[in-house]
Amino acid sequence: MSFYSVHQQYNWDEEAQSIMAKTSADVQRALRCEKPDLEDFKALVSPAAESHLEEMAALSHRLTQKRFGHTVQLYIPLYLSNECANGCIYCGFNCKNKIARHTLSKDEILKEVEVIKSMGFEHLLLVTGEHPGKCGIDYVEEVIDFLKPHFAQISVEIAPMDLPEYERLQKQGLNTVYIYQETYHAERYSIYHPRGKKADFKYRIETPDRLGKANIHRIGLGCLLGLEDWRTDSLFTAMHLQYLERKYWQTKYSISFPRLRPHAGSFEPNYPVNDKQLVQLICAYRIFNQELEISLSTRENPVFRNNMIGLGITNMSAGSKTEPGGYANPDKELKQFEVSDCRTPDKISEVIQSKGYETVWKDWDQCLM
Ligand code: SF4
Repeated sequence: MSFYSVHQQYNWDEEAQSIMAKTSADVQRALRCEKPDLEDFKALVSPAAESHLEEMAALSHRLTQKRFGHTVQLYIPLYLSNECANGCIYCGFNCKNKIARHTLSKDEILKEVEVIKSMGFEHLLLVTGEHPGKCGIDYVEEVIDFLKPHFAQISVEIAPMDLPEYERLQKQGLNTVYIYQETYHAERYSIYHPRGKKADFKYRIETPDRLGKANIHRIGLGCLLGLEDWRTDSLFTAMHLQYLERKYWQTKYSISFPRLRPHAGSFEPNYPVNDKQLVQLICAYRIFNQELEISLSTRENPVFRNNMIGLGITNMSAGSKTEPGGYANPDKELKQFEVSDCRTPDKISEVIQSKGYETVWKDWDQCLM
């Protein structure tokens, strides 16, 4: 049994209709509820909740402070490789795009590390395209081993792997794996992912199950906002989260909200998500799940990110470059997408503090593994 079989029991259109049918009374019930369920989540992401946004924001603020205090944790991505064997039609690293490709050597990684450490980071997110030959398990394992002495926490956003491979990385000190389903709409998924291993919907949706079995400390979920109806995709993500929490209860969970950004290629979002809807979504997740780490990346603009501090999020990336070598040797030809918040980590930390929050650079150590 995996989440794939759970997912198969649901019909996308019926779930979408059920969300659209929620009323203001359903939203009020969800806001009063101590332990919101999936029906409450549907109400919170429904159009009926739009007129309750202020109440949702106030509740989300209270719940976040109660569980996480006045803190925001900062992390930085390190792009190791933009080589990819997949053909996701919305991504600049799509194997069909004629862009320069590069995978960092150890010397190049060290140069990146010097810059990253000088900015004060202890939490590092390693990012690669999905190319088993260029940046597969052996490469990732070697890089983690090499970087362990330099960082308190190492997370990855890399190609999905088999269980024994995750077990290897877990032993190596890997803390968190982010694996985005992109969309839970199985038929539409195959249009967005026409080739490569990522075309296998079942393998991808079962990846968090393999991570849970491998005892990875934290699993990060999410959809690519803009591909399909965000309300329905978010419901399936919430369903996935609930399933995982019940089955792998010792694991921690995180959620992110990547919105499509400009990149090499010409893909336009089918279902754009506006700022107000993104606020609604973030608050809905916080009200639904009070333990959840909620992360906001530099895909979002400075004003939006400033305003979200205190409203539900717990983690932010800062100073991000989206190309391999981007910190020591920037090369815009290698970028995955344009970031929207280009402020320095120090500047972002100042903003966090000006809002009465503490910037957390480190809340974990390898010795805790
Ligand atoms: S989204 Fe990931 S897997 Fe798809 S083309 Fe981009 S880097 Fe490759």
